[in-house]
Amino acid sequence: MTIRTLKRTMQPSGIAGRLIVFWLVLFACLARAAHAGDVVAHGFKMAGDDTRVRLVMQFDREPDANWFLLRGPHRLVIDVAGARFAIDAEAAAARGLVTDVRYGGVSDGRGRLILSLNGPFAVEAFDILENSSSAGYRMVADLVATSAAAFEAALADQVTTTGSTRSTPKGDRVVKGNEIADRRFTIVIDPGHGGIDSGARGVSGAVEKDVTLTFAKELKEALEGLDIYRVRMTRDDDSFLRLDERVRVARQHGANLFISVHADTIRYKGVRGATVYTVSDQASDAEAAALAARENLSDELAGLSIEDENHEVSDILMDLIRRETQSFSVRFARTLVGSLSNEVELIKNPHRYAGFRVLRAPDVPSVLLELGYLSNKDDEKQLLDPEWRARAIASVMGAIRSFAGATAASGG
Ligand SMILES: [Zn+2]
Repeated sequence: MTIRTLKRTMQPSGIAGRLIVFWLVLFACLARAAHAGDVVAHGFKMAGDDTRVRLVMQFDREPDANWFLLRGPHRLVIDVAGARFAIDAEAAAARGLVTDVRYGGVSDGRGRLILSLNGPFAVEAFDILENSSSAGYRMVADLVATSAAAFEAALADQVTTTGSTRSTPKGDRVVKGNEIADRRFTIVIDPGHGGIDSGARGVSGAVEKDVTLTFAKELKEALEGLDIYRVRMTRDDDSFLRLDERVRVARQHGANLFISVHADTIRYKGVRGATVYTVSDQASDAEAAALAARENLSDELAGLSIEDENHEVSDILMDLIRRETQSFSVRFARTLVGSLSNEVELIKNPHRYAGFRVLRAPDVPSVLLELGYLSNKDDEKQLLDPEWRARAIASVMGAIRSFAGATAASGG
């Protein structure tokens, strides 16, 4: 219903009427502002036959796209952050290898395009190119029929070598002149809390969101100093991010590793030391479960409701990817515990697990590192000590080095 028809039917008069119109106009403006963040996908075209199909899709600006394969039936799934589809149904009709095209919004504001194919296929090319003669960008993908064995190999490759459904990092997909592809091992550091969500408060007044940001920045700087990793942060200032946004940042950067940094409090003031958590539906112990429950409240603290978690595509392959990712997360957690134990104090049973929402990326190995407890005055003092942080950072870097090395050795 437009504002004009509403005005006509409601016949608002006097101050109350003007107020209604004012709020409606404000609402319409806000709605439009929300839409300004969209990427519009249009001009979808397919050409080809039973052995080869080329897809071209236009975008009004640079899309952040990634793709993965599914089987049963053989499918190509293309996710584009914030995309809205303005596609002509005729252009999306079955053609050659492609038997069905579906598209629409999925969770987190992503737009998803799903192509079903009449048999096993390979993605020979997938590029995002800047248009030269007109504004905007275009996605060009070449799909070719292939053997069942080759398709299975591509599936296995997608699951095991990168631990990621993402085929190539973003730097590889946007081709601009002679830009060199950035294939470096990518780490996304997530400083816990931020903005309206301050996190825990120490016995002497240290604030968790500041402690985590300081540590994350120092870790990033140290890692970048090695010049072998690509390092990104979910936030680099005092801003609030929803938990699913933190997960999304990791996936959008094609992260090979996600580390969420925290420094919480615990009821027992005597307890101190670092802990490394991985995600699990079953918590390792009551304290871990309680911590995960507290962390998961972050979104509610900021006045946001927690959305349904079961929005991921339910698929055997996705389950397989999740399990593979989980084993990588556990492997890194163990390496990290081993590395930290040489330099800093750890709590008893330092690898624990619980249902942390921030660790739920299905395709990015993720851990939550509790540096120490702000409820313990010695831990708080250490967290504020640059020398202690430097030692902890050196341990984390050692663990990353062996994990990245092992990933590379297994072909990733
Ligand atoms: Zn925390």
